[in-house]
Amino acid sequence: MAFINFEEKELRTLKACMNCYYLNSYQSSSCANCRETNLIQEYNGMVGLLDPSSSYIVKLIRSYSKYGGDLIPGFYAVKIEEEERLDGDD
Ligand SMILES: [Zn+2]
Repeated sequence: MAFINFEEKELRTLKACMNCYYLNSYQSSSCANCRETNLIQEYNGMVGLLDPSSSYIVKLIRSYSKYGGDLIPGFYAVKIEEEERLDGDD
């Protein structure tokens, strides 16, 4: 697990993907990881994934995001407010 210091202003401009929880820059119109276009700024916490072959972090992110696809290195939200999540049909 890795930690990074963000300026508070930068932190607020990141947008979490509602599908895989990947944190995208505020300029992004779609997720760099899964191409989903539902990106929101309301999320809590972040976890760093430096090495996708490190199964612990991948399993952790998948366990709460319910996303089963590949995960690219980067930062992922820990929690997206439930009322902001769209209902999936899985
Ligand atoms: Zn995504």
